[in-house]
Amino acid sequence: MNPQLQTLIELQKIDNEISELEEGIASIPRQIESGRAGIEEKKTHLKEAEDALLALQNKRKGLEIDVATENDHIAKTKIKLPAVKTNKEYSAILTEVDAVKEKILVLEDQELELMEILEKKEEELPPLKANCKEEEEKFNVYKLKKEAEAERSEKELEVIRPRRSQVANSLETKLLEHYTKVYKAREGVAVVQIHENICQGCLQHILPQQVIDVKAGETINFCEQCLRILYWDKGLEGAVPK
Ligand SMILES: [Zn+2]
Repeated sequence: MNPQLQTLIELQKIDNEISELEEGIASIPRQIESGRAGIEEKKTHLKEAEDALLALQNKRKGLEIDVATENDHIAKTKIKLPAVKTNKEYSAILTEVDAVKEKILVLEDQELELMEILEKKEEELPPLKANCKEEEEKFNVYKLKKEAEAERSEKELEVIRPRRSQVANSLETKLLEHYTKVYKAREGVAVVQIHENICQGCLQHILPQQVIDVKAGETINFCEQCLRILYWDKGLEGAVPK
C-alpha cells in the first residue's frame, strides 16, 4: 500500500481516538452535574417530608395544650359549685362544663386523627432518609469514578497528541491540508474505506476504474462526491461497515 495512504489511515484512526477521548472528557462534568441534581432533588424531598412531620408534631402539641386549657377551664368552673346558691346558677355551671367537655371531645378526636397521620409519616421518614444517604454515597463513588476516568483520558491524550503530530508531520503538506480541510468539513471523517464499491463516507457509488485504483492502493484516491480519501481493506470487506 502507498505509504502516504497508510499514514492517512493512521492519522484518521488517531484523530478518532482523540475526538472520542475529548468528547468523553467534555461529557463528564455534565454527567456529574446530572447525578448531583438527582441527589439534590432527593434531599429536597426529604427536607419537605421532615418539615411536614415537624408541622404535624407542632399541631399535635397545640391540640394537647388546647385540651389542657379546656380541662383547666372545667376545673376552674367546678370550683364555683360549692358557692352556688340557686338551681339556675348550678345548672348554668353544669351547662358550661358540658359545653367545654364537648369541645374537649372534638379536640381529642382531632388529636387522634392527627396521631394516625403522624404515625404514617414517621414510618415513611427512615426509609426516605436511608435512601437519600445510600444515593448520596452511590453518587460520591460515581463522581470519583468519573473524575478518575477524565484523568485517565487526559493522560491518554498526553500520549496520543505527540504521536498525532509525528504522523501528521510525515504526510506531504498538500495531503495534510486536504485531510485537514475534509476532516473539518465532514464531521471528522476524512479517510474512509470503500465497501461493495460504495464510499462509506457519503454512500455514493464509485466509478469502476476508481474502484480498481482504490483496491490497488498504490495511489491516493478521493471520492468525487465528498472528497474523502478512499481506501480498501480486504479484511474488512466482509465486515459490517462502521
Ligand atoms: Zn464519498
